[in-house]
Amino acid sequence: MLTNAYLKRVYDDVTRRDPNEKEFLQAVYEVLDSLQPYVEKHPELEKNGIIERIVEPDRIVSFRVTWMDDNGATRVNRGWRCQFNSAIGPYKGGLRLHPSVNQSIIKFLGFEQTFKNSLTGLPMGGGKGGSDFDPKGKSDAEVMRFCQSFMTELYRHIGADTDVPAGDIGTGAREIGYMFGQYKRLQNCFTGVLTGKGLDFGGSLARTQATGYGLLYFVEEMLKCMKNDSVAGKTVVISGAGNVAIYAAEKASQLGGKVVAMCDSQGYVYDPNGIKLDVMKQIKEVERARISEYAKRVPGSEYGENRTDIWKIKCDIALPCATQNELDADSAKALIANGVSVVAEGANMPSTLEAVELFLKNGVLFAPAKAANAGGVATSGLEMSQNSQRLSWTFEEVDAKLRGIMVNIFHNAYDASAECGMEGNLVVGANVAGFIKVSRAMIAQGLV
Ligand code: NDP
Repeated sequence: MLTNAYLKRVYDDVTRRDPNEKEFLQAVYEVLDSLQPYVEKHPELEKNGIIERIVEPDRIVSFRVTWMDDNGATRVNRGWRCQFNSAIGPYKGGLRLHPSVNQSIIKFLGFEQTFKNSLTGLPMGGGKGGSDFDPKGKSDAEVMRFCQSFMTELYRHIGADTDVPAGDIGTGAREIGYMFGQYKRLQNCFTGVLTGKGLDFGGSLARTQATGYGLLYFVEEMLKCMKNDSVAGKTVVISGAGNVAIYAAEKASQLGGKVVAMCDSQGYVYDPNGIKLDVMKQIKEVERARISEYAKRVPGSEYGENRTDIWKIKCDIALPCATQNELDADSAKALIANGVSVVAEGANMPSTLEAVELFLKNGVLFAPAKAANAGGVATSGLEMSQNSQRLSWTFEEVDAKLRGIMVNIFHNAYDASAECGMEGNLVVGANVAGFIKVSRAMIAQGLV
């Protein structure tokens, strides 16, 4: 609970200004709540107005995106880019294309991104963007026309040293390719302005795998240091069947775990023999079809329509990798009753505040998103370095750097939790460790 008068005042102000931005308010509350012990020891933060500045984005642009569908009809979507904080580097964060996208979601993601990027140790500020456009069910030509129109507005706000967007839900290699092509055409300049690019034009090896692999490197280190254990032999349940979920499943299997369930927004599949990733990749990456196809193709597997029932499946490790607030208190109770020992967030803010509290109270090892899923943006940072140097590193080089970064993030978060007197509480640890560098940079740079 927020008891510190300064933090409470700032939170009340944010609530008064944006009472309808529920996801943003949730993210701000979680961060301010865990910063309390640190803020109490550092009066210079209030003196420099750091908290009231850090919860307010540097700027948000919102714009109309007009495009024509295959029937010749005019379509209008709304686009956003939220440049949240550039104290430690150019704005960096993904672009989400999903019908649920609104300003609150973009702001919560940009806010979280600021601390996550700081945790990676790389010089990247926080930003996020997207649109309520739904790429599902659209032809390649429609997606291209949308992406070109989106970039025709966005290009004037971004740049390799200003703001470097990337992928997120609904924005994969295809969408990044179309956006990059349009940026290059408008600026007549080939520069590393987006990450997640194709390998033929400046993309980094291992970027596709990075968030999912990074999540498992984090879990492996957490299990080793906090329980003298490992992923080998564990039963794993993963929500989602997109980029993060698929590569989390791949690395979990490589480390000796058995992934028994995955889901999409319509339902989940349970395969007691272990999910066959080649089948899942074919359905999700190649055919862009529903996950129910899996149960039709793999004997012995089952499909269930209520996707939140995935959390009722008994497992040792649960990895929510789909979207925000997908794991609530009831799901947390079901996981705990079934003896889950690790919950690590691949998606951004997938667990509600109540669910997180239950995990922490019941001794579940809990890895919050801003630490556990930072592997994606870290590797985007490595893509930026390669672009600047006009070099391409091998898969093994990038993967080794990614692993090193995730191990460091775990230790930084763990050490910060201990310094705050809450050893092992990685929610506090990640927030404090991410916050320190950004706040110091803001103080050093004066009132800007
Ligand atoms: P994808 O679009 O590749 O996959 C998203 C998955 O989640 C799909 O299976 C989708 O199902 C499901 N999903 C999306 N929205 C909802 C919803 N409202 N309810 C239920 N299920 C939903 O996205 P990513 O894998 O890239 O991203 C997943 C999460 O990870 C997001 O929170 C993202 O912000 C976060 N993240 C991603 C990073 C990356 O590198 N890609 C980096 C760090 C965080 P369906 O196909 O049916 O819509």
